[in-house]
Amino acid sequence: MADTIFGKIVRGEVEADVVYRDELVTAFRDINAQAPTHVLIVPNEAIPTAADVEPSHEPALGRLFTAARKIAEAEGIAEEGYRLIVNVRGHGGQEVFHLHMHLLGGKRLGRMLSG
Ligand code: 5GP
Repeated sequence: MADTIFGKIVRGEVEADVVYRDELVTAFRDINAQAPTHVLIVPNEAIPTAADVEPSHEPALGRLFTAARKIAEAEGIAEEGYRLIVNVRGHGGQEVFHLHMHLLGGKRLGRMLSG
């Protein structure tokens, strides 16, 4: 598959504000934040989209959620709540084809779908 900007961030070739990293996932602040906290959590292995996941990816996919929980706690938004989003391919609004989970919070978010 084609490399993406997120692959370069995972490998440390492109700068990002990394907030969490382990052997399976990397998390960094979105460059165009849509909320006071907007973090992207990505598997270190580049899976293009959620439509491409295989059973072998399950450890990394599960880690997305445990990392999200830790990051939300560290950001101080766990109690009030937050939103996790995975956009999939064109109609889902996916722009970067390295699967990623958006973690958004820090304010009351609006309706989930605007269009
Ligand atoms: P998608 O629409 O694919 O679900 O979300 C892609 C997200 O990646 C967007 O929210 C966009 O702002 C963010 N993004 C795109 N390029 C970069 C980058 O180079 N660095 C960071 N930190 N975020 C990026």
